[in-house]
Formats: sequence, C-alpha cells, structure tokens
Amino acid sequence: MEVLNAGQLIKYILSLNNKVLKECLEYKGSQQEELFELARNVRDSGPFGNYVELRSVIEVSNICRQACKYCSIWKNKNNYVLTGQEIFERVLYLANIGRRTFLLQSGEYAEQKFIDTLCSCCSEALKIYPDLKFILCLGNLSKKQYKQLKDSGVNRYILKFETGNPEHHKYCRPKDTLENRLECIQTLIDLGFQVGTGNIVGLPGQTLDDLVNDLILTTKFDISMVSATKFIPSENSEFKNEKGGDIDLTLNFIALLRILHPNCLIPTTSSLETKDKNGQLQGLLAGCNTVTIHDGTPKENESKYQIYSKKRFTPSENHCLNIITSAGMVAQNYLI
Ligand code: SAH
Repeated sequence: MEVLNAGQLIKYILSLNNKVLKECLEYKGSQQEELFELARNVRDSGPFGNYVELRSVIEVSNICRQACKYCSIWKNKNNYVLTGQEIFERVLYLANIGRRTFLLQSGEYAEQKFIDTLCSCCSEALKIYPDLKFILCLGNLSKKQYKQLKDSGVNRYILKFETGNPEHHKYCRPKDTLENRLECIQTLIDLGFQVGTGNIVGLPGQTLDDLVNDLILTTKFDISMVSATKFIPSENSEFKNEKGGDIDLTLNFIALLRILHPNCLIPTTSSLETKDKNGQLQGLLAGCNTVTIHDGTPKENESKYQIYSKKRFTPSENHCLNIITSAGMVAQNYLI
C-alpha cells in the first residue's frame, strides 16, 4: 500500500465499510502489531512527536447525581467533598515539585457552592503559577456553570459520551440521555474549551457495530483529547457480575482513535493495567501520549473514590516514568 499522510489516512479509514473496521477491532498477533505501528507513526509524526503529557489527578468529590450501571461512586454512603483549602494546598504542593497539569475529577455534583470553590481554587492557583493547566472532568453541568469555570481560567474539560448508541446509553446511564450528553459536549466546545471525549470499551450489551459507530462519533466534534477506557466490572456497581472489557479490543480501538485523531492527546488509563500486566505500556505502544499520576487525591479519600473498583490501580510517578521510558518516549509537564 502506498504511504498515506495523516489526512489521507483519516479519509481512507472513514471510507472503509463497517466490516473492515470491525475486522481491525478484532486484530491479534502480527496484524495487531501492524495496526499499532501505524498508530505510532501517526502519533510520532504529529504535533507532539514522542512526548507524553504527565498529569496529576485530584478526585475532588465522590458525590454523584447520576446512576451509571458501570460505576459505583453514586452508591457510596461515605461522601466527601474536598475543601477549597485542601484542593489549593494539593495543587500548590504538586506545582512546587514541578507538575503543571491537573485533572480535577468528581462525580456529577452540581452544587453551586462546589463550583464556586473550584473556580476560586483554579483562579488563585493561576495567579501564582500562570502556566498551570487545569482539566475538569465533572460531568454534565449547566451552560452557566461551564462558562463560570471557563472564566476562572480553566481551558480544558473532559466529558466522555461513554457509549454512542442511544438505547445502550439509556440502559447504561438511566438518568441521562445520549442527546443531552452530546449537547453538553457541544456547549463546552462552543464556550471555547479544549474538549476531550470518548467511550468505555467492553460494556455489557455493546456490539462491535456500536464500537465502529463510537469511533465515527468522535470525529463529529472538534476535540483536543479523546480516550477509551477498558470496562472494569466494579464490585458495587449494577454491572458487578458482568464480564470485563477485553484488553486487545480496547487497544485496537485506541490505535484506530489515534489514526483518526493525529492531533489529540490520548491517555493510557489505569483501566488498562487492571488485570492486564503492562496494559498501560501497551497503550503507549498503541498510540497514546498521556499518563495520569495518582498523587493528587489525599490518601484518606482515595478508597472512597470507587469509579472502577476498590482494588483499582492508582499509578505512581515511578510507574508512569518507567512505562514512558520503556516505550522510548519522553515525559513533558503539558502538551497543549
Ligand atoms: N462524573 C464525571 C467523571 C466520571 S469518572 C463524568 O460524568 O464525566 C471518569 C471516567 O471513568 C468516565 O467518564 C468513564 O468513562 C470512566 N469509567 C467509569 N467507570 C468505569 C468502569 N467501570 N470501567 C471503565 N471505565 C469507567
């Protein structure tokens, strides 16, 4: 096959029929190796080359008004909300040791006081370190609240559509609709955020056709970040007895995401390392270029933030730096 540039590759992939894309999702062995190599070539010749963005995550609250069947956070009776002081101190401590990118994540907790607190934390921290990058991942909020967050100096927001099939979405996320979730994504883009979206691979009831459509759905938005996590059947969730997502399927999905989005940041998430040793390194080898270090949430709150599982893997700085070196890549404090 002639060598295609990234733009030609995207057009080529989108012109393929579902059958070919489904076959790509099922690649194993040497075919999978070739797919990963293609994804790495797209990444390495893109704007970020072989650099990896390092982030610190702070899980700012575990309160959630949704009732997603893959997640157990909303069932937690042991609620917490970090105070402004706690968040500010964590950010300053990590900024002092060199970190620049902070992912503030929580359940969907839309209390105005909470949003006000986050806004003042971010704007105050930016006064001290103007080069900090805040990424919020707080779920569906009102346009007014999104705007308030943007006005406080936050430039990035992650809101995954999770599953792009409307019926399947309703089944997995009974308190929300796909339409509403997609509207929130578009609102964030219209407000000028650098937006991340994506899905979960291996959810119960999800088909290969759904995954192909999810890939295509990611191309409908003007995004800067995109991600796919491997489904983890969390112990306390409605889906606790379901089969977990397949690592190869998730990695193939990620490689296709990379080919479709040469300019996006794509994280190799801790879900890949759960049950699969070296899963996160495999993510880098399949085209990812972002790693999240779990050093921001206070230790006493970590076990109360059960999005994946009580036994979820929380990557340390050492683990992240090791996989970056093993992949022949180079850590950076931010890429966008
Ligand atoms: N409340 C926020 C943050 C959710 S947690 C929101 O609604 O966006 C961050 C991400 O973890 C989710 O977007 C989802 O894609 C992923 N996630 C949650 N539970 C998961 C599970 N059991 N397996 C795999 N990914 C999961």
